[in-house]
Amino acid sequence: MTAPDDLMGSVRLGTEFFRRHLDTFLDAALAGESLLPGWTRAHVVAHVAYNARAIGRLAQWAATGVETPMYASVDVRNAEITEGVLLASDALVRLFDDSAASLDRHWRELPDESWTFPVRNGQGRMVPLGDTVWMRTREVWIHAVDLNDGSSFEDIPVPVLERILGDIAGAWQGRDEPGIRLSLTGPRVVELGPADAAVHVKGSLAALTNWAAGRGSAGVTLGTGTGIVPAAPRWL
Ligand code: ZN
Repeated sequence: MTAPDDLMGSVRLGTEFFRRHLDTFLDAALAGESLLPGWTRAHVVAHVAYNARAIGRLAQWAATGVETPMYASVDVRNAEITEGVLLASDALVRLFDDSAASLDRHWRELPDESWTFPVRNGQGRMVPLGDTVWMRTREVWIHAVDLNDGSSFEDIPVPVLERILGDIAGAWQGRDEPGIRLSLTGPRVVELGPADAAVHVKGSLAALTNWAAGRGSAGVTLGTGTGIVPAAPRWL
């Protein structure tokens, strides 16, 4: 198996989408609030940059066979982000560019057979390296919206949204979350989750994915039509 081409397209588009936001940010804007509680935009940029480095380490692991985890520890991961936030905006943007370019290089130089090599993902599960392209795709698209400067899940390509929502529904099912039913309202009507679920949430693909990813209840309603939509359970 080689790198999945359609995913490589999505991850590169997502990286460019994220990067375009950074052109408009000066120091003041980077210090502004992101959509993630307690994180400024600079935290999000630093996290996404160090995530590229972490996924690059998994590519190195696959290429060399020598185990190199994403992060040495949770503390190391958090300390990196805290330090990244202290950088001036141009240095932080450079960090983002360098990390994205370096990850891309790792992927391009990888021998075909390495894509199936098992590596440990962020949740501690062993997955084929090929899966990390999707991990990164999800990361750049969702966190670009988290930068809180006007984009939304509506800007994320439909195939990416569909796969994110499928991941979340699958994660809930795997953890026996008390039933949640999701109804996608047009253009394609899709139902996910048990029919007798305690919670039934309706909305467009973008609105439902936004809600399911824990980013608020804008645009979704309860299946009953009235009442307040509860916060979605965690999925990662
Ligand atoms: Zn993340």
